[in-house]
This record gives sequence, structure tokens and C-alpha cells, in this order.
Amino acid sequence: MEMEGEIRIDLRKERLAKSLANIEAGTGEEFRDTIATVDAAGKRLWIYPKKPSGRLHQWRIAVTVVLLSLLFAGPFLKIGGQPLLLLNIFERRFVIFGQAFWPQDFVLLAITLIAFFAFIILFTVVFGRIWCGWLCPQTLFMEMVFRKIEYLIEGDAAAQRRLAREPWHWNKLGKKTLKHAIFLLISILIAHTVLAYIIGAKDTFAIITQSPALNPAGFIAMISFTGIFYFVYAKFREQACIAVCPYGRLQGVLLGKESIVVAYDWLRGEPRGHLKKNQVSAANPGDCIDCKLCVHVCPTGIDIRNGTQMECVNCTACIDACDDVMIKIGKPKGLIRFASINSITDRIQNIVNLRVIGYSFLLVTLMSMLSFALITRSDVETTILKVPGTLYQREGGVISNLYNVEFINKTFDGLKLEIKVESPATASLYKVDGKEITVPAEGMAKGVYFIKIPEKDITNARTVVTLGIYSQGKKLETVKAKFIRPVTKASDAKRN
Ligand code: SF4
Ligand code: SF4
Repeated sequence: MEMEGEIRIDLRKERLAKSLANIEAGTGEEFRDTIATVDAAGKRLWIYPKKPSGRLHQWRIAVTVVLLSLLFAGPFLKIGGQPLLLLNIFERRFVIFGQAFWPQDFVLLAITLIAFFAFIILFTVVFGRIWCGWLCPQTLFMEMVFRKIEYLIEGDAAAQRRLAREPWHWNKLGKKTLKHAIFLLISILIAHTVLAYIIGAKDTFAIITQSPALNPAGFIAMISFTGIFYFVYAKFREQACIAVCPYGRLQGVLLGKESIVVAYDWLRGEPRGHLKKNQVSAANPGDCIDCKLCVHVCPTGIDIRNGTQMECVNCTACIDACDDVMIKIGKPKGLIRFASINSITDRIQNIVNLRVIGYSFLLVTLMSMLSFALITRSDVETTILKVPGTLYQREGGVISNLYNVEFINKTFDGLKLEIKVESPATASLYKVDGKEITVPAEGMAKGVYFIKIPEKDITNARTVVTLGIYSQGKKLETVKAKFIRPVTKASDAKRN
């Protein structure tokens, strides 16, 4: 038994040395020069993946049900009476987890985006493209919704291929019409959901129930979204992941030898060889029996046995297919599995490395900054600027400056505001029209103000006036205004 173990280790070492020599010599890497979905003449090769099944596929179904339910329910979910998520880019109005955000929250948005990218990078460095296969809406809709409908109507891969080759007849016409009609209906549903995330469920419902003439922009948006989704899922398919998605294109720089990806254990599987008739277990030293089931189930048409490839979306269909084969031939499962290249060559899975520590540190720093910015974020954003073209006025020993003040209410309730001067102590503030400041919910208000300071109290050429913005006695924000005063010998002498 011990001897057998030693032989296996020696065999692994020998295969490792061989494959490393091959990689260095560049042999066996030719598959990287082309993609499986385009032929030598540049023509698209249609993929007919075999129907996937197995333990991981069952988990994917469960994850898909949860995520798509959340996606479709999202526009109707509310927090404190406000949408869970609203990204109205047209009106520049954003609601995230029931909190309103404005273009003025640019810094917050910038930190959030950088933190999001740092998280994606860290997650990818450690876990590869799990996002693509298990969480990305593109893959979920394509593989778990549209592809399943296709299997239901046209049958498994072989039947689909046959149907495609057959000349047009009533049965084929019926199947294709039914399939594309259902694809179109689902595309309409997705388009409405996406629009509801942009303009809100209420406005989307209005577009559905009203005549297109009353809302031409909404109607055009709906038709465009439907057309895009239908095209992507009926025609473009895996090309979205292979040729368009920027995240997919980044894999080459994000993945390392320590990243956990869907990988073929070539040291265990090679040299591959077919099973002979009535043979239960492979006689060749490698466990791969070259049945190609892992290739047949792949929705991007690749052979994972060639190694990690940019086209692989980590859908894990090949793991299920190969595990099934291994069970049948009495070999241990996991010839294709989630593993890093290092764990295959050295049998040690080490996810902590310098890159992971660096990205983790960056992410923690960004998250701390984001938390601080969110905690200190004010309900009101006030901008105070000198009225263009004005300088200062001098009257009875008092200097006054004129300001435009703009208030943005980031809450969902109207606010009555009050401005109080906090410093210098002798400064005073007057609203030109003398009216109260009332800012509507999620709206803005403007006012013109005088700030006056007795000339004798202005000791600095760069006087700054500090103002407190209050609502119902509660201070919401502190703002500062630059105050211009006449250049006098006395004050300049004092300053110097
Ligand atoms: S190689 Fe495997 S995990 Fe990658 S896309 Fe193909 S079937 Fe999915
Ligand atoms: S499914 Fe497994 S045994 Fe069959 S070809 Fe792929 S890796 Fe080899």
C-alpha cells in the first residue's frame, strides 16, 4: 500500500516535470490562439451544450431562484417607504437601501466605486470567476432560464443540432416560433424590471398602462431594452462574456496560480485514454477516459483540460459531468474541481499571499473611509458663493457681502431651515427677501443673503464666516463663506 503511494507520488512528479517543460517550450498552448466559438474563417460557431445535471447544478438552480426572485421583487421592495434601489440617471436621483443620494454625494460615490472594484479584485484573486457562473445576471438568465426553455422545446444538444440541420417544416417552424415568442416575453419582463430600477415601479406601471403617445421616451426605452435583451439571449449568448464583458477580459491579470478556479487535475488525469469494451476502470495511468463530456456540457465550448482559459465562466457544469463519469468508472470524484494551480501541483491550498494581503488592506481602508463618510453625511447640502460681479458694500462702518445660497434636501421630507452665524461673533446675516427657507423633499431651494461685519472687527484680509444650518433646532451642517473687505492701510498694517 505504502509502495503504491510512493509510485503515485513519483508518477505525479514525473508528469509535473513534463508539463512544466511543455509550458516552457510553448507546446500544447496553441488552443489559446483561437476561440472555440469562431472558426478559422471568422464565422460564428453555434454552441449546443449538453443539458447539465448534478449536485452543483442543483445548487445553481437554488441560487438562481433566490437571486432572480430578489431581482424581480427589487423594484417593489421598500425601506421606510422608499425604494430599495433606484438609479435614475436621467433625473440624477439615486436611492440605495432607502437613502437618497445626489450628484453632490460624488465623493461618496467615488469611494463606493473604488471599494467595489477593490472587492471585485480581491474576490477574483482568491475565488476566480465564481461571480460569472453563479451570480452574474447574464449567466443566470442565459443558462438557467433561456437555455432551459430551449431544452424543453428543442430537446438536448443532439436534438437541437439535428433540428438546426433539418430543412424548414411545420414542426421546426412551430418549435422555433414558440421558443422565440417565449424568449421575447421574458425579454419584455426583464426590460420592464430594469426600467423599474431606473425610473421606479410606479412610473414603469404608468408606461405600461398609458398610450405610447403620452410617454414616447419611456416607450422607446422599453422597446430598446427589450430588443437588447432578446438579441443577447437569443443570438449573442456566450459572446457577451467572451468578447464584451470587461470583467471577463480582466481575468488574465487578476488570476494567479493561487486563485481558486474550475481546474482539471492534469497530474491525475493524464495521460488520458479511452475505456475499452467491458472495462470498468481505466487501465491507462491517467484517470481521464477522454469521454469529452466536460467539453460537451460547456456553454462556452472550451475544453477545460487545456487549462484555465479566458472563456471559462466557472459555471461548474464540467465538474458535475466529470464527477458522474468518475463515479461510473470507480475513481474518486474531483478530477475537475475548484482548485488553484498551486494546489494541483503541490497539493497545498494557500489562499493568503502578498497580493491578497495588499488588496485586503486597501479594501479595509476604503470601507473605513466610506463608513466615516456615511456616518458624517448631512441631510442637507448647502453651497454658498458670492454673487458674481459683486465686491462689497460699505455703509456706516459696516462692510457687507452678497451671497447666493443653494440648499439641497437629501431627505424624503420637506425641511424648514435656519442659518445662524457662528463666527466671527459680530457678523450678522440677512435674507434679501426676508422669507423663511423651506426646502421641498428631495428638492432644492435658493436664497440671496447679505453677511455684514463691522469694519473695525475685520482684522484679516481673508476673513471666513462660519455658518450653521439648522432645522427644528438641530444642527445639520456647517458651511464657510469667504468675506471680502476693502483693502485699507489700517487693516493691512494690523495684518502685517
Ligand atoms: S470549462 Fe467548465 S466551468 Fe468553465 S465554462 Fe466550461 S463548463 Fe463551465
Ligand atoms: S469528463 Fe472527465 S473523464 Fe471525461 S473527458 Fe472530461 S475530464 Fe476526462
